[in-house]
Formats: sequence, structure tokens, C-alpha cells
Amino acid sequence: MAESKKWHAETLAIVAGRAPSPGGPFNVPPTFASTYRDGGDLGYGRWGNPTWSAFEETLGELEGGYCVSFASGLAAVSALVASVPLGTTVVFPSNGYNGTRGLLERLEKEGRLSTRAVDVVDTQEVLNAMDGADLLWLESPTNPLLGIADLPAILRAARDVGVTAVVDNTFATPMLQQPLALGATAVVHSATKYIGGHSDLLMGAVIVAEESRRDELVEWRTTQGAIPGVMEAYLALRGLRTLPVRFARQQRTAAELAERLDDHRHVLRVRYPGLASDPGFERASAQMGGFGAMLSFEVRDAESADRVIESLRLVVGGTSLGGVESTIDRRARWKGEEQLPGGLLRLSVGLEHPVDLWADLDEALNAVFANS
Ligand SMILES: *Cc1c(COP(=O)(O)O)cnc(C)c1O
Repeated sequence: MAESKKWHAETLAIVAGRAPSPGGPFNVPPTFASTYRDGGDLGYGRWGNPTWSAFEETLGELEGGYCVSFASGLAAVSALVASVPLGTTVVFPSNGYNGTRGLLERLEKEGRLSTRAVDVVDTQEVLNAMDGADLLWLESPTNPLLGIADLPAILRAARDVGVTAVVDNTFATPMLQQPLALGATAVVHSATKYIGGHSDLLMGAVIVAEESRRDELVEWRTTQGAIPGVMEAYLALRGLRTLPVRFARQQRTAAELAERLDDHRHVLRVRYPGLASDPGFERASAQMGGFGAMLSFEVRDAESADRVIESLRLVVGGTSLGGVESTIDRRARWKGEEQLPGGLLRLSVGLEHPVDLWADLDEALNAVFANS
């Protein structure tokens, strides 16, 4: 797409990945095929699909690289982790997505690689851990503490010493940051979250700057079989078309709720990089195009946090994020996250009216702490 360089993300999300055939549909329709007739270049359903390609072209344009889609976010993560040689040292965020952490710890237990956990907010700690490492795994903002890593500095250093650097961009989306432009080797997404955006599918993607890496990833996907479903790819692209407008609105509401929660007498602490008092505020302001739509807040203890969730009538208790509906999760209930504050609630802000969301949160908090 020759003109794409001068278009904004809002425009690219609409026009990328469209088949310009006169008389045809605007969107590439779902192609349900396990096999194709001889004479074309697709051959078999595990090797390629026009619906995947339309999704990949669009997300690739938004991230500024070549995109390969997978069956889930974790399948995309696995494809990248699998590409490192046996015996490799992997540096990863101690406060990162627990699925990625679980995968790395399992591979370590099997003796395939060794890991070094770091607090990615501490730049010096990350730089020190990179010494002798082969792969650096980054998340910013982190899940669920919303810590901000100094991506420009860390990615520059990784490039200088030749460490493969991967950024999980699920929370920020390409609307806020494009890590490839900062020197990342690869970007990974759980498209299950903001990209799909409607809590009705699982899908993942890797985006790389080099065509040769794309080809390797496609070969891995073909060999391993972790291919996305056709309907999933179709729905994920449908979701991606409205990502810019959904995200802008969700982010605005999140900023408003973060301010109000921060002033609430029953909330001990709010973590949102858009709050001027947040430790990540300056970094986020310098390196991101916005502060995102995820926030965490703490109440007294685990028991009251669970009661807050039960008292909510609009915000839904549930573990995923990035959908049109606001969801809330007490993270310390999960295996591997017991070290988090028990009363920490992670809120994924949806598209409901901010006034209704605030009324719901305020009423639930006041009801739970009525006698305190
Ligand atoms: C959900 C998630 C994943 C895993 O994606 P799935 O689609 O659930 O496999 C990876 N990274 C982050 C940050 C996530 O939130």
C-alpha cells in the first residue's frame, strides 16, 4: 500500500487489508477452506488463508512491520520463545502476564532455557540482566501494576548488544506505541483483548520488522499448526477497524475514573500512568501517545475487594480485558499472582457511559465500607 505512510492510524485501520476488486465486497469475506484447488498459490488450509492475510496486512500497517497471526496470544508468545536456541537465557518481567511467565518457567524446569526475572520499571536492573542474555521480554504498561518501562532506552541498549527484544503490546496497542520503531525485534499481541475488542474470540499475532523473520514465523506456524480460525480472523479484523475510536473513548473514560477513584475515601491507591502522581507518568507522557484504558486500584483487603466485585451491577467480574464492556478482576486470586496486594482490583474500562460507570463503582465502594 504505497500511500499508507502518510495516513493516520484511524485511516489505516479502515483501508488496510481490503481487496480492491471492482464489484466485490468491501471486506475480504471469511474463506472457509481446508484445501484449495490446484493452480493457485495457497494449496492447503494450514498454509494460508485470505482472511488471515487481510487481518495481518492491517495490523502490520498499524505496527509498522510484517504480521503473522496465531490461534491465541499465547500461541504467538510460544512461536517467539521457540525461536531461541536451546540453553538460551531469557530476561522477563517479574510483574508480567502470568501465562508468559508460566511458559518460561516450565521451559526452564525442563532444562531448555534459563530465566532472569526483572522489574522492567528499573532500567538499570534490566540493562544489567541483559548481559549474556539472548532474549529480552518486555511489557509496558505491565499487567496488572501498570508499571512503565523506559522502552526507548532499553530497546536501544538491547540493539547495541545484539539481544533479541520482544515487546508484548497488548495493553498499549499500536494506538499508543509502536515498539518496532524504537528498535524492538518483535511485537506480540493477544488480539483476544483490544484488537478483537468484543470478548468473543481468541487470537494472537506477532509483528516483525524483517521479512526473513516473518517467513520463519510462518514456517513455524505451518509446522506447529497453531493457526487462527477463519471466523476469528474475520471478527478480529472487524474489531480492528474500530480499534482507534474504541480505544480513544475507553482511554478518556479510564482517565476520568482514575481521577475519581484516586479521590475516593475508600480507595487506598490507584495505579494509572495518566495520573500526574503516578510513578510512570513522566515516562508514559514522553514515550506513549496516551495512557491506555487499564487501571488498578487497591482497597483494604482481599475480602472487601471481593465484596466490591459482588456489589457492582454494571462492571462485570471476569478475568479478561479490552472488550467493549468494563470488567474487573482481583488479580491475587490467580496462581502465580499471590504476591500482589490482596485488595488490588484491575479494571478494564469499556464503552459504557462514564457517569454510569462512576455511579456503579462509587455505590459499590460505599456499600462495602458503609460501616467503616
Ligand atoms: C491475555 C494476554 C496474553 C495471552 O493471550 P491469549 O489470547 O489469552 O492466549 C498475552 N499477553 C498479555 C499481556 C495478555 O493480557
